[in-house]
Amino acid sequence: MPSLPNYAVYAIRYASHTGRTLQETFIMPPDPHEVAQPLIYYVWAIVGDGRTVVVDAGMTRDNAARRGRGYHQTPAEGLAKIGIDATRVADVIVTHMHWDHAGTWADFPNARFHLQDREMRQATGRNMLHAPLSRSYWPDDVVGLVRQVYRDRVEFHDGEDDLAPGISLHLVGGHAHGLQIVRVSTERGWVVLASDATHFYANMEKQRLYPTIYDAPEMVAGWQTCKRLAASPDHIVPGHDPLVLEIYPAAAPGLEGEIVRLDRQPKPR
Ligand SMILES: [Zn+2]
Repeated sequence: MPSLPNYAVYAIRYASHTGRTLQETFIMPPDPHEVAQPLIYYVWAIVGDGRTVVVDAGMTRDNAARRGRGYHQTPAEGLAKIGIDATRVADVIVTHMHWDHAGTWADFPNARFHLQDREMRQATGRNMLHAPLSRSYWPDDVVGLVRQVYRDRVEFHDGEDDLAPGISLHLVGGHAHGLQIVRVSTERGWVVLASDATHFYANMEKQRLYPTIYDAPEMVAGWQTCKRLAASPDHIVPGHDPLVLEIYPAAAPGLEGEIVRLDRQPKPR
């Protein structure tokens, strides 16, 4: 069997939300005295073997302002700092279509967007009639991606699929009906970009459900899927945890706390 390529994997911080409470982070928070849980917004990049795959398109600057989030840069501006030209990226995996993951699709004019069937159905179907289910989506993002369907620029997946040798997509659902995670071959073994299958390490490790939820049993099963696919629990990368920026090495001098290498060994937490 030919050996798989090993990719470099980056987490790029583009926005953040401080002053967030534990109630916004965990159903049944453990300790009412712990009150703050800052949340970081990331996109991810997978580079190697002649290809660049971006995972998620983040939120737009307008939506950050609308929802009171600190906006450091567009995902494309962050990617440029590690030499990735967003206008030349051929593949963008959209883990799910929530407003903070599918916003800047227009900055990737030559990309194909990889989406689960279930997520597009959810974002365009009857559940969006109801505010508690629709509030995580932004209609302009959804309409923008629907337009890409008509331009033959969306590739639909149903369940598990290989995107390239050593890069695969896995439907987990739970937090969003069509949430998918990404498994990547690296020098240190299989890394899993869990996106919002686990927002923080604590969601998965302490078995605390995140309050934005479509299907609780699927969320729990998604944690198991992450563990099954990753080389070890330390190979699972949560979707919004500030710890990721602390334990992984910077992608280059000057990028500390902003862009880190996930294919490198993390410091112990
Ligand atoms: Zn998210």
